[in-house]
Amino acid sequence: MADYRPGTPDQAAFLAELLDRRLLIQTSVAGLYGRGADFEEVCGRVGDMVTRAGAPEQPEQLRFPPLLPRRDLESVGYLKTFPHLAGSIFAFEGSEGQAAEQFDRACRHEDWSEFQSMTELVLTPAACYPVYPAIAARGELPAGGVTVDAGSAYVFRHEPSGDPARMQMFHQREIVRIGEPDAVVAWRDVWRDRTTSLLREVGLDAELAVATDPFFGRAGRMLAASQREQELKFEVVVQIAGPEPTAVASFNYHQDHFASVYGIELAGGAEAHTACLGFGVERIALALFRAHGLEIEAWPQEVRGQLWRV
Ligand code: ZN
Repeated sequence: MADYRPGTPDQAAFLAELLDRRLLIQTSVAGLYGRGADFEEVCGRVGDMVTRAGAPEQPEQLRFPPLLPRRDLESVGYLKTFPHLAGSIFAFEGSEGQAAEQFDRACRHEDWSEFQSMTELVLTPAACYPVYPAIAARGELPAGGVTVDAGSAYVFRHEPSGDPARMQMFHQREIVRIGEPDAVVAWRDVWRDRTTSLLREVGLDAELAVATDPFFGRAGRMLAASQREQELKFEVVVQIAGPEPTAVASFNYHQDHFASVYGIELAGGAEAHTACLGFGVERIALALFRAHGLEIEAWPQEVRGQLWRV
């Protein structure tokens, strides 16, 4: 079992309010929620806000399911850097006798994992992951590279928590830039600053911070130090219900990591670089409910005007 991180009293109180108002719907597992209509409405408006901000770049629209071929997770090294967050899909492959035994154990809520075998599927851990092999399969990039809007996709992180802002399954609204190194970094920097303004326009006290990924173990601490030193990752953080502000968007420069795994080449054959930006849709929605109250009709007019404009 992954370590369960209980929420702080403030996080627990905020979660209780969200459940009481049926903005979130509790399940029997921490960090897994259904969503009520108003919560879903706000998530949709957050996604639209990002779509409007990105429209001038005319990104190519691609959508993927929340499952990834296991081979892709293996190829990008996810099990080295984030073994603690990964989720893989297992399924039954056995005899009638084994099926009966599995069912008996399941009825008693005992361990039935020995009857389960690994499939070719894992849960998608980041919405940009399916984009890289899809672009690589086309061959050399067009001049200027590509920008892909991967939409708002469900992703999984195995980290059960009592903090409503730390869900196990949530939406990432991701846009990916693949091209020449200078162009990719410039794009990342433009979005980094644009996002801080976007979130401030909807009344959130957004701040920019150099950040690191939650890499696993001792080797991970070294990776994080190098990531910070090279300023490969930035986050926009907002106070939600944590003692510390919560990251609601991240801007990641992968250098040649994904391009070298999949062989993504620039026009002319040089290796491409990649960057992505990911908005934590539920976290932005939670930040809005925290800042403006649980009744969306009562939110300040200027905030509603920004979110609900067509
Ligand atoms: Zn990404």
